[in-house]
Amino acid sequence: MTTLPPSGRIDGPVLLTARWVVGHRDGRHVILDDGVVVFEGDRVVFVGHDYPGAVAARIDYGNAILSPGFVDLDALSDLDTTVLAFDNQPSWRKGRVWPRSYMERAYEMYTQEELAFQKRYAFAQLIRNGVTTALPIASLFYRAWGETDAEFSAAADAAHELGLRVYLGPAYRTGNSYVDDDGRIAFFYDEERGFRSFADSLAFAERIEGLASPLVRAMLAPDRIETCTPDLVRRTADAGRDLDIPVRQHCCQSDLEFTRITATYGMTPLEWLDSLGALDERVLLPHGELVAGTRHVDRPGRDLDILKNAGATLVHCPLVSARHGGFMDSFSKFRAMGVRIGLGTDTWPPDVIQNMQVGVMISRVMDGSIDSVRSEHYFDAATLGGADALRRPDLGRLQAGAKADIIVIDMGHDRIGHVIDPIQTLMMASSGRDVTDVVIDGRFVMVDGQIPGFDATAGQARAQRQFDGLVARYPERTYGHPPVGEIFSSAYPRLGRNA
Ligand SMILES: [Zn+2]
Repeated sequence: MTTLPPSGRIDGPVLLTARWVVGHRDGRHVILDDGVVVFEGDRVVFVGHDYPGAVAARIDYGNAILSPGFVDLDALSDLDTTVLAFDNQPSWRKGRVWPRSYMERAYEMYTQEELAFQKRYAFAQLIRNGVTTALPIASLFYRAWGETDAEFSAAADAAHELGLRVYLGPAYRTGNSYVDDDGRIAFFYDEERGFRSFADSLAFAERIEGLASPLVRAMLAPDRIETCTPDLVRRTADAGRDLDIPVRQHCCQSDLEFTRITATYGMTPLEWLDSLGALDERVLLPHGELVAGTRHVDRPGRDLDILKNAGATLVHCPLVSARHGGFMDSFSKFRAMGVRIGLGTDTWPPDVIQNMQVGVMISRVMDGSIDSVRSEHYFDAATLGGADALRRPDLGRLQAGAKADIIVIDMGHDRIGHVIDPIQTLMMASSGRDVTDVVIDGRFVMVDGQIPGFDATAGQARAQRQFDGLVARYPERTYGHPPVGEIFSSAYPRLGRNA
């Protein structure tokens, strides 16, 4: 193959070929057998079969899929702590809700350097999984309060350096849930503090948008809805409109958020957001589970109408939903209603392919039907759904004029088995580990599994050390302060050498 310059960019047109190309014609994806993609600079200039022009470089990926990169609207961007909840419940006894004793002295459990490392590490993992556009999400449980300008400035640097397209917004909130001394969930609000962190996030957004970077853009990312007061929701919506940037408002996942909003305001979360004028086509709503009018919500409500009319996008995160025993009801019903749906990875591994696989299967279980959901419906959500949510017709599709955000998925190795159709086989036998090469904005950011400037082995070792250090501090912010060994279970009895 062509030797790449250190910049990852090749001057002049670059022609890529593979056994299958996912191109785009007349508003939908098409599969081009033995297809060709040509890009020049940051743009795709040709997708088809016979390119008539001269090119500066040619790369044939052989038995592979050339695909538009994935758009991840809830992109895992820390050393995921949600995985600790997999077999350790209830959350409030496992360090996922602050006890009052900790809330009064909550502090940043990671140093600035550790916060910067985990973003850079997470961005590299997203690239490895074929994500070319990411809207980062991380936990606030180990934070003093909200996310900070300093760590997001470092994240912007990491995105530029690694070459990942991102929309960045430090998370903020005016409130917090906690466990009181009797083991009951309670709420604490500090609007002044929340508005200060909102002001910081807004200043960050204005600065980032002012950079006019082709890669790094801004979004607004208020935390879960139950941690936001009405004024914060209103100010966020106004700012989103003023700056014309995406707003991600977590609102349809947990019982806690649903019951808190209905008990306080007498409305469902979606009705409440609607009443505050906070829903429009810029808004992204993870996770679409607790919606009135579906089987998960035993309460009437206007949610379905609101979703249909608001133009907001549901951010469907199949893996984290399924692991927690819940799911959208249902992907196919929302899709048939014309509700916009994009995908998010949310939890480890940040593998969009695995998320699509889980999504197809659980959706069929939800519907009790083998044909309510097809492979291409999820592939559309992972590409076009995300791009449309960001109002970016230049993303999520490979056609002339689109951004050169291209991934290569290897279908040639023996563990894939026999291919029946590239996208259908992707949904059954592939994984994010099969993504070998990634081009973002016309730059080769991963070549043959290697990301220039990122040492995956050293990164993993450091991530483990940093994560272990955080886990050691769980007793500080777990109700009753039990030792780590009592907070987290083991699948089987652990026998040390002298047992
Ligand atoms: Zn979530």
